[in-house]
Amino acid sequence: MANLAPTFVSPPSGSCRGSLRTSRISAIKLQGRETEQTRLNLGSSSRKKQGLRRNASKENPGLMQGIRKDEFKTAEQTEGYDSFNDMKQRFLTFKEKKYLENLELYRRLAQSQAPEFMVIACADSRVCPSVILGMEPGEAFMVRNVANLVPPFESGPSETNAALEFAVNSLKVKNILVIGHSCCGGIHALMSMENADEDNSSFIRNWVIVGKNARLSTREAASHLSFDQQCRHCEKESVNRSLLNLLTYPWIEEQVMRGNLSLHGGYYDFIDCTFEKWTLDYYKTISRGNKDMIAIKGRSFWS
Ligand SMILES: [Zn+2]
Repeated sequence: MANLAPTFVSPPSGSCRGSLRTSRISAIKLQGRETEQTRLNLGSSSRKKQGLRRNASKENPGLMQGIRKDEFKTAEQTEGYDSFNDMKQRFLTFKEKKYLENLELYRRLAQSQAPEFMVIACADSRVCPSVILGMEPGEAFMVRNVANLVPPFESGPSETNAALEFAVNSLKVKNILVIGHSCCGGIHALMSMENADEDNSSFIRNWVIVGKNARLSTREAASHLSFDQQCRHCEKESVNRSLLNLLTYPWIEEQVMRGNLSLHGGYYDFIDCTFEKWTLDYYKTISRGNKDMIAIKGRSFWS
């Protein structure tokens, strides 16, 4: 299969050490506040984990007693810190500083929305498109999923293409922006699969397999690089694959063909705080006659 974006093969600009990149689910509490590091699990079911916990309980009852006690604390209140009280203060600040000071805007938005952008970004807590790109309420219709993937039309309904259908056919957005990012746990999970057909019990596996062609082309184009470097390559390759998948939806391709809709890729590197943006060149892409090849234009690098 042809490589989608050979120029993306480059050493990583930073390290993903300490980010979500292994196959366990755990929560790390730092200094009494909920700093949570989520890790994706491909191999074990929750039932397996319960079994492991029972085994651990037999080995060290004192330790497990402490864990059970912690589990029975209310989720929002731990060691005197109420995260929802903090959230309440942030909401009231938003109301005072944003909502009430822009009352006309919010009253118009209460009647209808007409966003210019549809954004598809990863569920990763560090990405936050509204924050990093300064998108205010009403500016972007947004869907976030693991690894910011767009399944092809033939995959059938999902929440991602349901959102696309509404954004394109009802809201008539002008731009769809798919944003990949550094240290993506979903892409790491995709690249870690030994066999795409084995063990279909994991929801994560069954979702990220949408990007299997990006994994395949990454392995072909970047096999000489380290595994971490291949993941960096696939983080961008999967964005391009999603842009091509967008064209498999007839109502999206029609709008692109008519010049009413543009498809863009983006890559947010939160190690260096840089953003790369590019646009699919529709006519060059279709003129190549290869559904696995993308032509891009207008690449820019924001640093
Ligand atoms: Zn991600």
